[in-house]
Amino acid sequence: MEALKATIEGLRELYQPSRPATAGAAPLSESGRLFYRIMADHYQSVLRAREEGRLVAMHSGRPPLELLHALDIVPFYHEIFSLDALALQRNLQPYLEAASTAGIPVEFCSNHRAMVGQALTGAIPDPDLLLLQTDCCDNKLKTWEIFFDHYDCPRFLLDIPFTYREEGIAYIRRQLDQLVSFLEAHSGKKLDLDRLTQSLEHSRQCHALYREINRMRAGVPSPLNSREAFSPLAMMLSLEGTPEAVSYFQQLRDDLQERVAQGKGAVEQENYRLFWLHGLPLHSLELLDWFEREHGAVVVMDQFSLLEEEDMIDPARPLESLARRHYFSCLNIAFYGDLEKSSRHITRAAREARAQGAVFLAHIGCQIGCTMIRYFKDALQEEVGIPTLILDADLIDPTAMSLEEMQGKMEGFFEILDERKGG
Ligand code: SF4
Repeated sequence: MEALKATIEGLRELYQPSRPATAGAAPLSESGRLFYRIMADHYQSVLRAREEGRLVAMHSGRPPLELLHALDIVPFYHEIFSLDALALQRNLQPYLEAASTAGIPVEFCSNHRAMVGQALTGAIPDPDLLLLQTDCCDNKLKTWEIFFDHYDCPRFLLDIPFTYREEGIAYIRRQLDQLVSFLEAHSGKKLDLDRLTQSLEHSRQCHALYREINRMRAGVPSPLNSREAFSPLAMMLSLEGTPEAVSYFQQLRDDLQERVAQGKGAVEQENYRLFWLHGLPLHSLELLDWFEREHGAVVVMDQFSLLEEEDMIDPARPLESLARRHYFSCLNIAFYGDLEKSSRHITRAAREARAQGAVFLAHIGCQIGCTMIRYFKDALQEEVGIPTLILDADLIDPTAMSLEEMQGKMEGFFEILDERKGG
């Protein structure tokens, strides 16, 4: 349990009003504080679930969390938790070592190595249910094979078709019926349709607010600083369909509206507008503060914040709309399925956000993400006319590429962007 407890403590410290801003970083906004508070409370509810008589479902990716909320089951997205734990504690080494001892090779995605280590050492609570979806990378499937062996609890596998056809919706829809039966059987509760409708309405509100936020990010100057730009994603993946998530998105929208009304951007002088692909170097988030402060560079949009243009949730047809959202969401297909479609999402968003350059964090160990580099790089160059910098770094391990090395690469990239402006 120690990883969960330490992360809750770390998050609580972050939102204290008396806490000074992180050295070199922009002061935390109201929504930034609220984000940490909600995430701390969420992890606290995972910790307390058993004594409150609630089940914890550990999930991968983005299952229909609304079904869990409607049945009073606590979701736990281990992957996001592990990243939170790293960003706060930077002490994942014991877990990486535990994973190595269990035979996980170092070539494996480091985040998943940390997750395996956390599970095997009991650093997180044992879940009551496991929910896995097949629309994920090989590393994740392997990790979950280990979880399936390690945890003696019921599991459900949601199979997502790789090709995109209308029949796929019916296929997922049928599995959602089975998922409801599975959850009802193990929770001993009957799905409450009113609660489900309410949770879907919360999701619909979150999506609408998220779109509004993305539109403001795409404005000039872009009002959201890069450190906080990835929080909405973590909120969606962890707490989609809850009133807490709605309150966070409302606060973020309000914070940004205020900045826009005052004509304030995330940085004093916006020099470079960047489109970010893949995750962040969590071992060196100072990189984001540095390029904002020293170079006036802002991440105006990122691959994982892309949303479908239309709302796919219809509370009158809950399971069908959950199946449709799952199948067609930009986020779910970012690393799975139709590469052309994903590329179209990226180029359209980069164009709308008036990005001048893209940065791809080529996370070592992410075979699936790295196979897309050339495809996206070419598409961004040919269709949007912007260059892409590849950072061969790691989400967790600074030895792959240090902060200083990343800074050096980015300085070279800014020179290229300057030459293009001059030309
Ligand atoms: S970073 Fe890549 S390898 Fe790691 S979990 Fe994500 S998709 Fe899989």
